[in-house]
Amino acid sequence: MLDFTTPDPVALHARLRPDALACLDLATGKKWTYAALDADIERAVVVLRAKGVTEGDRVAVLARNSGWQVVMQQALIRMGGIFVPLNWRLSEPEIDILLADCAPRHLYRDLTDFAEAVELAVPGSRCTPRSQSETCTILYTSGTSGTPKGAMLSASCLLATAVNFGVLGEVDSNSVFLCDTPIFHVIGLVTQIWPALLRGGTCLISPGFDPELTNTRLADPALRVTHYFCVPQMAEGLRHARNFAPDRWALKALFTGGAPNPAAHIHWWLDRGVPMVDGYGMTECGTILGMPLSARIVREKAGAVGLPGPLTRVRLVDEEGREVPQGTEGEVLVHGPNVIRGYWNREDSALGADGWLRTGDVGRADTDGYITIVDRRKDMFISGGENVYPVEVESVMAAHPAIREVAVIGVPDSRWGEVGRAFVVLVPGQAISENELAQHCEASLARYKIPKTFVTVDALPRTASGKVMKHILRDEFLTA
Ligand code: ATP
Ligand code: MG
Repeated sequence: MLDFTTPDPVALHARLRPDALACLDLATGKKWTYAALDADIERAVVVLRAKGVTEGDRVAVLARNSGWQVVMQQALIRMGGIFVPLNWRLSEPEIDILLADCAPRHLYRDLTDFAEAVELAVPGSRCTPRSQSETCTILYTSGTSGTPKGAMLSASCLLATAVNFGVLGEVDSNSVFLCDTPIFHVIGLVTQIWPALLRGGTCLISPGFDPELTNTRLADPALRVTHYFCVPQMAEGLRHARNFAPDRWALKALFTGGAPNPAAHIHWWLDRGVPMVDGYGMTECGTILGMPLSARIVREKAGAVGLPGPLTRVRLVDEEGREVPQGTEGEVLVHGPNVIRGYWNREDSALGADGWLRTGDVGRADTDGYITIVDRRKDMFISGGENVYPVEVESVMAAHPAIREVAVIGVPDSRWGEVGRAFVVLVPGQAISENELAQHCEASLARYKIPKTFVTVDALPRTASGKVMKHILRDEFLTA
């Protein structure tokens, strides 16, 4: 395990570039230079101690994105506490389960009091991070496949992702991130805020995604956003907004991750001059793989999620744990300082005895080593003895102009064992028959992969980070 001996990046940049803009809270207009951020972090330590927070204590936040969450996480790292940003979009009973799990010393439902207290506090003697390998943050997984699990992240994990994404995403001190994905999700906190702070760049923190407002910000020459990372569903929202004008953007790339991004969509963006760069990661590891920022490679390899970051190793293995030949599907295993060592309060470790994390995702490498994520292992189904990966079917269906969103699951079938069932959200005003859908699929898919039924729905059940919760579609089918 890498152990970083330097102080934290904010403390360093407060000396290297004290007047550079570290953070701007777009909701309130509050700005932090690196010097101001460093000073507020020191004051926040005093505030948290006054609340009774000591080493190992959890402090949970149930609030929209705010620059004050950046202050709070850094303060907890310096004092040895644990930051737990929670998904405020969950229902109260779901939130209660997470609160019972992490048992915080203190829960902030609103950061106004915290902000006021920090502004009034008198800093004590300077704190330096106690440990780089102890848990400093608990991030709950998205809950796509069931109840969210608390991934225990250390400062090493966070720094390793900052390096991985920083290198793959070409982050430097001129980088400006627009962060409107939730801070309670790995993409918001780990993949955007940390690479920006590591390199002395800027984070623009927005309370949340709004297709029109986000378009306005991406086109704003005063903000000069260079890095924007979202889930594919948000990218779809952006391009359907009235004020969509990508020719006015200053982005190096539009980064996506967190869920499959169909190749047809990536081509659509490339054709409008925007390099859409897909990457693969998870709460347990932060950034694992990413595409280079080359429109030529992105076009050539559309559908792939790229190469491992510099601090991470990836293997693709069969069920016996043997490496699969190039071009063959295998489970993705990950090793490196970005990988957590376990889940909060859970016996089942994310890591195998060999120190490699089993992701539960199936991937395939091409001759150049670029990896494509085929699907989650649990979502694969077997029809007439053949493996079907729903993501492949969805990717083909998503290329149809009448289809806005689609999800495919396997359902029991007396003849074939299992068959596909597609849930389709149409572009408003469009209609399409089952026959036409089947014909569209026949052009690119083997017969056994083509869904046997197509159901039109108004919306798909999604997590806060925009992922389709297929277990809900399966449950609905079984109880229908
Ligand atoms: P839970 O673990 O609670 O079921 P989750 O796995 O969705 O939820 P996250 O950690 O947010 O929680 O998501 C990581 C998963 O997202 C990966 O394991 C993978 O299945 C999927 N994923 C991430 N990036 C990509 C990508 N670029 N393409 C396809 N799938 C991706
Ligand atoms: Mg997961």
